[in-house]
Amino acid sequence: AAKREGGGRIRLFRPEMGEQVLARQRDKADLRTAVHEGQLVLHYQPIVDLATSEASGAEALVRWQRPGHGLLGPGAFIGLAEETGLIVPLGAKVLAGACEQAMRWREQGRALGVTVNVSTRQLSTPAFLPSLDRVLKTTGLPPAHLTIEVTESVWADEAAMRGLMEVRETGVRVALDDFGTGYSSLSYLQRYPFDVVKIDKSFTGNLDDTGRTAGVVRCIIDLAEVLGAHTVAEGIETEAQADWLRRAGCDYAQGYLFGRPDTPENWDSHPVAVP
Ligand code: C2E
Ligand code: MG
Ligand code: MG
Ligand code: MG
Repeated sequence: AAKREGGGRIRLFRPEMGEQVLARQRDKADLRTAVHEGQLVLHYQPIVDLATSEASGAEALVRWQRPGHGLLGPGAFIGLAEETGLIVPLGAKVLAGACEQAMRWREQGRALGVTVNVSTRQLSTPAFLPSLDRVLKTTGLPPAHLTIEVTESVWADEAAMRGLMEVRETGVRVALDDFGTGYSSLSYLQRYPFDVVKIDKSFTGNLDDTGRTAGVVRCIIDLAEVLGAHTVAEGIETEAQADWLRRAGCDYAQGYLFGRPDTPENWDSHPVAVP
């Protein structure tokens, strides 16, 4: 079958296209079910204070226990969640689950802050701030024990930027995730306050490369200090990386060296390995 479009172009219809549309509809329906019927699972990865080598907090990372597909990482479904708007209820579940977990840790006498990824799309909806307020109120988590992580794409979205300013007024902390991989301008960085800068693993993975990357990382650490923000290095897999970052004045680190993302139950049975 061929369809004539405006401008006289002819586009052939291929059966695979119909299959793709159907598959997408199925994924979307399944993801909606996942969000509302408890198939989302939160793993936590320790964030370690490089000065004391102790975990000071944990980042919540969402997974989908999808029937027939196993445990899916966020790369497999966050994009679809953003396109369909399902990121809003999904993000609300993640936020509530992470705050509840932080309260459980407090009850166990562990002072761990919790960090939650929030997409720009989610932050730009008017429902975000009220849902954040509600979660803080119902769980009783002190706002300063929660950090939300946003990416540099937030600069391009006015509504999300306004949301971010309101978040900060609640006392919740804000981290700039994957720093250096998106588009930040120095004027934005100077104008808007951040509590934490997370140095992306594409930098920390190349510290002993040519010397150039190491220089860039040193500059990011200095810049964060000037801006009054702490630094977290992502993707730390070796002792050598951790040593280098500690010497360079980086505050915190996160990576397989200290612990992989895992369920709180496994955290309890295999306490976070601190080298
Ligand atoms: P991210 O926030 O930058 O999270 C860090 C990612 O790096 C995680 O992947 C983590 O498992 C991985 N990682 C941690 N340490 C190491 C290491 O030492 N080496 C290597 N190679 N990788 C390491 P994950 O869990 O697949 O998450 C990917 C991304 O999905 C996250 O990147 C975040 O942007 C997004 N994401 C995760 N959970 C959520 C969520 O609840 N909401 C939203 N909006 N996005 C989420
Ligand atoms: Mg993150
Ligand atoms: Mg990150
Ligand atoms: Mg990253």
